Amino acid sequence: MKQWTQDEALDFYSINRWGAGFFTVNQQGNLSVLPERRQDGPQIDLAEVIHEMQQQKIAFPAVIRFHDILRSQVKGLNQLFQKTIEKAKYQNHYRGVYPIKVNQMREVVEEVVDAGAQYHFGLEAGTKAELLAVLAYNTNPGSLTILNGHKDQEFMQLALLGQKLGHNVIIVIEKLSELTLLLETAQVMKSEPTIGIRAKLTSRGSGRWADSGGESAKFGLSISEILQAVELLNQKGKLDWLKLFHFHIGSQITDIKKIKECLIEGSRIYCKLSQMGVPLTYFDAGGGVGVDYDGTRSASDSSVNYSLKDYVENVVYILQEVCDGENVSHPIIVTEIGRALTAHHSCVVTNVFGHIPIYKTDLELQPSDHLILKNMQELLQELSQQNFQETYNEALVLKDEGISSFKLGFFSLQERAQVETLFWKICHAIDGLAKQARYVPDEIQKMRNSLSEQYLCNMSVFQSIPDSWAIDQVLPIVPISRLHEEPTVPCTLADITCDSDGKIEKFIPTSAQHGKLMLHSLKPEEEYTIGIFLTGAYQDVMGDMHNMLGRLNEVHVFTDDDDPTDFYIEEVIPGNTSAHILSTLQYNPHAMAQMIKKVFDKQIQAGKMRPKEAVQLADFYEQSLQHYTYLKNF
Ligand SMILES: *Cc1c(COP(=O)(O)O)cnc(C)c1O
Repeated sequence: MKQWTQDEALDFYSINRWGAGFFTVNQQGNLSVLPERRQDGPQIDLAEVIHEMQQQKIAFPAVIRFHDILRSQVKGLNQLFQKTIEKAKYQNHYRGVYPIKVNQMREVVEEVVDAGAQYHFGLEAGTKAELLAVLAYNTNPGSLTILNGHKDQEFMQLALLGQKLGHNVIIVIEKLSELTLLLETAQVMKSEPTIGIRAKLTSRGSGRWADSGGESAKFGLSISEILQAVELLNQKGKLDWLKLFHFHIGSQITDIKKIKECLIEGSRIYCKLSQMGVPLTYFDAGGGVGVDYDGTRSASDSSVNYSLKDYVENVVYILQEVCDGENVSHPIIVTEIGRALTAHHSCVVTNVFGHIPIYKTDLELQPSDHLILKNMQELLQELSQQNFQETYNEALVLKDEGISSFKLGFFSLQERAQVETLFWKICHAIDGLAKQARYVPDEIQKMRNSLSEQYLCNMSVFQSIPDSWAIDQVLPIVPISRLHEEPTVPCTLADITCDSDGKIEKFIPTSAQHGKLMLHSLKPEEEYTIGIFLTGAYQDVMGDMHNMLGRLNEVHVFTDDDDPTDFYIEEVIPGNTSAHILSTLQYNPHAMAQMIKKVFDKQIQAGKMRPKEAVQLADFYEQSLQHYTYLKNF
């Protein structure tokens, strides 16, 4: 075991890069959380949190939510805008909203509202269910309630109901027909709504969601439609309703250049509309601020080439410059930043419960006269740095021939085993040679990936990190302990679903070698726990129940105000039981238990089982229905 310093661990797992100052490694070699982003501030040792969870019998996998991080992010965003506005002498203020689709958990929404109270921070909804939640939970006086998404009449009625509750509701028109619907509904309800208009910009974002912007976007009005909307409102004498100008060009915008282009275009449209007499007062730049998941600070899909500060400065200064140039007074700045606000505050922790070792065999190779086997032996003997690619191709052909011979009945089981063993020996030898090679062809790299060890993790990729499966999102994965020990095992991760997609094979670059994640070797007596970080945005609420693996146990951790090195688990939300998952799919767990009992009764009657054993087993079945869907780790 090679000793490792804290700095080596921080650097290797890029913790300072993706962690945004919220995570570090402590003296004990454990990953810990700095809720105030200060080394001299409060610190929560994650290994201690896990220890506490085990004392309380909270099983893996579990979501750990750090409300202090969430608060810190909300305050940080608002303060950044305040400071920048002051410095720029911008002549208006900031009124942000949190789009709850990013993480609709009630506790998350409550925390955001509470932390944002002093800044009049509001909420955004995009569907009726979200709107129902927002109407009840946006209690901050002076804050905005912004409504995006496609709307029907009921949506409009709820929005106007919100206005009557005293909320500052702004209904954003996504398509022209919504305006007609709103005019009609408002007339019936005798309301004077405030409306916004979402523009389709020609500037687009960058990264995976670039198609959310641009002229063919699913949402928003083209410039000519905006002019039509203005005309319609004018005709009805309701132009004074139109107060907000909005655009949102997609999530995780990776390149600051794209953000600038959109801000310039958006500001220009805002000014031109103002000059036409539209009484706009709000400029809503939407969301899309990305998170540096892989710590590379680049415009790659899992990263961003800018900081939140860069973003805020661009919004304030670009808007100011364009407005000043056009002689338009400075609007109230609105943003709908979601991902960048919530990603850091939660993580998934779980145990590695086993591993699938690299294919190895100690099979004694009997000398064989068979030509295929002889040729393979020769390939292995003559393998060199110069010929490994050709050797690989030839070995593949020979292996296929060997298997065909077996299928045709010309090969014994022993001979087939020899072909496979020789093939893997050649692959391992090639892997060794490729390590020193300047260039490794794709097919050899693929073969090398298949040689890695797999660590089996007690979780479901589909429930906990769906983006890893769906869009190859890279998330930081770090062992919770042993960070003062150099990790020596290159591996990929596999989950407990019966789906061959249930695996993680892409990792942040610094923590991987030849594409494989470096972790510590497993010890038989010691549980090995890993954390998957930055899961607080989207991942938390998008997961599905593939293989009937349900929602995770969840703990909410707070720092202790009296002792900066201590913490407490404020709330435990139990994950789904098997019975719960079964009921959501129309099963009746109670009836199922009865069905099982009946079959056991028949076994007893037929004299095949003793009553005592049958009752015990029936009870066991019934109890199992009430248990957690994941593997038990204690
Ligand atoms: C999803 C969404 C957001 C949030 O986007 P992030 O990338 O999470 O910041 C903001 N506004 C609208 C209209 C959205 O649909």
